[in-house]
Amino acid sequence: MKLTWLLFSLLLVAIAAAQNEEELPLAELCDVESCQLPNCRCSSTGIPGGLRPRDTPQFVLVTFDDAINILNIETYRSTLYGRSNSNGCPAGATFYVSHQYTNYQLVNELYSNGFEIGLHSITHRTPQSFWAEADYETLKGEFADQRQMMSHFGKIPLERIQGMRMPFLQLAGNASFQVLKSSGMTFDASWPTITFTEPGLWPYTLDYASNQDCQLPPCPSASLEGVWVLPMVAWKDLNNNPCAMVDACFAPPALDDEDGWFQFISTNFERHYFNNRAPFGFYIHEWFVRTYPAVNNAFIKFLDTINNMPDVFMVNSADVINWVKNPVPVDQYKNQACPQNPPSPCLPTNCGPLSATHTQEQFWMASCNTCPNVYPWFGNPLGA
Ligand SMILES: [Zn+2]
Repeated sequence: MKLTWLLFSLLLVAIAAAQNEEELPLAELCDVESCQLPNCRCSSTGIPGGLRPRDTPQFVLVTFDDAINILNIETYRSTLYGRSNSNGCPAGATFYVSHQYTNYQLVNELYSNGFEIGLHSITHRTPQSFWAEADYETLKGEFADQRQMMSHFGKIPLERIQGMRMPFLQLAGNASFQVLKSSGMTFDASWPTITFTEPGLWPYTLDYASNQDCQLPPCPSASLEGVWVLPMVAWKDLNNNPCAMVDACFAPPALDDEDGWFQFISTNFERHYFNNRAPFGFYIHEWFVRTYPAVNNAFIKFLDTINNMPDVFMVNSADVINWVKNPVPVDQYKNQACPQNPPSPCLPTNCGPLSATHTQEQFWMASCNTCPNVYPWFGNPLGA
């Protein structure tokens, strides 16, 4: 009897220990003395390296979300390909790709043209509350597995996939950041701020407590060493309402007013450029640019303008994190070697019809690798 009791007690102790191991340390107030670049930065609007605004490169981050396929590639080709910054380096942009209906040959084309491929989940499922409640294991299946999937079918070197954005910009507390850390990725680009827009919030790490406003809770509370947040600094629409995504602004200019749109983009840009030069985000979905030619033309005119400015650089998101880790003045930055994606050619295969486990629908999938047996999905990212 006594022995049974003893064993039972030991078991309880073991369970408690296992649970403790999973508990994350709560983030403490940021200590500037011990949180230093390159691997730690307190959340702040201060310019990295204590640079003066005029010595700071103004980075512009153009990002597109969701599936990559023949419906949207033409917009990317016509607006982004062949652009250079004023220092001669190719202009960057980042694609947060969701899996369903993605053509991996086109993902490889974007990568081969120097753009950055980020993760936006395998299922991108609704409702939004699914993501708010998603736990570590779920998000591991959505993002760590998607990284393998993207690398395999798109022939993207695994280590070049460094960033992620949650569907609907819905955070999940610590869980998505834990997945980021455990899978060896670098940054999250899901977290909007409307409090820190003027001056804007620079990227920072989660070693210590963030002071960023939490617009779509739950936000992370744990200390997660070396995990970078690339805040989405909100725009202001014509009525001063904040918007994290350009296509979600409540009161934008008329959708057929090209000059109005160019002014609108420029005004939001200048809020960064004439202040602390926090990275300026142009975060949008392709359908919006395709549907409204005036927006498309204003977008191109804006890019043409900044591509001619000596201290403005349109880059991949990972390049901004790299600069923040090692901030150098703009005169030095513009003479650095251009960032490059290592060559990784596609071996095109067209796969299908593939049966799926999540729907009756059959799929065709353009891949850069041998064909899967079934349509890849959550829990079976390589379609074995
Ligand atoms: Zn999305």
